[in-house]
Amino acid sequence: MIKIEHLVKSYGANTAVDDISFEVARGEIVGLLGPNGAGKSTTMNILAGYLSSTAGRVTVDGLNVLDEPLEVKRRIGYLPEQPPLYLDMTVEEYLIFVYNLKGCTLNRTKHLAEICEVVKLTDVYHRLIKNLSKGFRQRVGIAQALIGNPPVIIFDEPTVGLDPKQIIEVRNLIRTLGRDHTVILSTHILQEVQAVCDRIIIINKGKIVADELTENINRVAANTCRYQLKICGPQREVLAMLRDRADVAYAEVLAARDGDAYIYHVESQRGVDIRKSLFFAFSAKGWPIVGMETLGLNLEDIFISVVDKTNAEGDPKKTAKSRRQRTNTAEKDIAQSILDATAAKQEQIAPMEGDE
Ligand code: ADP
Ligand code: MG
Repeated sequence: MIKIEHLVKSYGANTAVDDISFEVARGEIVGLLGPNGAGKSTTMNILAGYLSSTAGRVTVDGLNVLDEPLEVKRRIGYLPEQPPLYLDMTVEEYLIFVYNLKGCTLNRTKHLAEICEVVKLTDVYHRLIKNLSKGFRQRVGIAQALIGNPPVIIFDEPTVGLDPKQIIEVRNLIRTLGRDHTVILSTHILQEVQAVCDRIIIINKGKIVADELTENINRVAANTCRYQLKICGPQREVLAMLRDRADVAYAEVLAARDGDAYIYHVESQRGVDIRKSLFFAFSAKGWPIVGMETLGLNLEDIFISVVDKTNAEGDPKKTAKSRRQRTNTAEKDIAQSILDATAAKQEQIAPMEGDE
């Protein structure tokens, strides 16, 4: 449905989008994730036809954004980072204004009523936009994007500035829309893409550093090899014993205690279940394990690690520093495998024909 090939956008010497390529299939919900300044809004603005590109090709439903801007715009509902609302209009006036602007031919009353039902604006339909809360204004922004029933929806940071309840509502709404639309949303919040998107594309410094199905990332993270143990016994010796084991990749002791037990976080080598052997080993020592709990991996850490690793690239000082730290935690391993898989995929993207 959407195909972006070797997209570049430069502002003078600053390259905001640096050779980005990806495709989005019909019906997919894709999240662009990345720190501020990564190039998310720039990419979305180009996709929506609001910004020209320096190089590369963007097609929507087979139509080139440059050649057929109006046809492309007709297929896209766009919620920019700053929705272009007219505060002195009522919700109704504004939506009618957008309806006319888009040259929409659907039955107006029925169409607008349906949209307001979906985004829950019916109660404030006759209110002035300037008197609405941030959450309701955002819904007005979403409503304008839905006018004309575009098959593609692009939302730039749709939940910024909303309260937790509104965030959940907007996420639910996006998921609902995802059933019969192709959706691209951007966010700098990992939980957001995890909660809503089928696929996560991580952008950093204008480049794609990760492109992976959410379920794959979740599966790897759930297939955990990290445990919290409570062990009664001399702290230093217990820790040394844990670290000496070949099947333990990582062990640390926490500052907290539980009665006379110290609390340890232990990571096994990937795919090894160490629980039984730990039980017998410590039992033989006379140091009882009084608590054992499986810990999930932290997706946030995977995300941070992905971004950190790409930031450190080409910076020998930073790379050296991160090597000196204990690097064999599962999050970093997973981040690296995501980076490697993405790099391999990106390498397979063909150069653009007909150029240069
Ligand atoms: P994101 O949406 O991921 O936060 P943006 O796409 O807004 O990032 O910005 C990417 C980079 O491009 C940033 O470094 C930003 O400063 C720069 N940038 C964005 N718009 C302009 C502009 N109009 N002129 C110059 N630089 C810009
Ligand atoms: Mg942005």
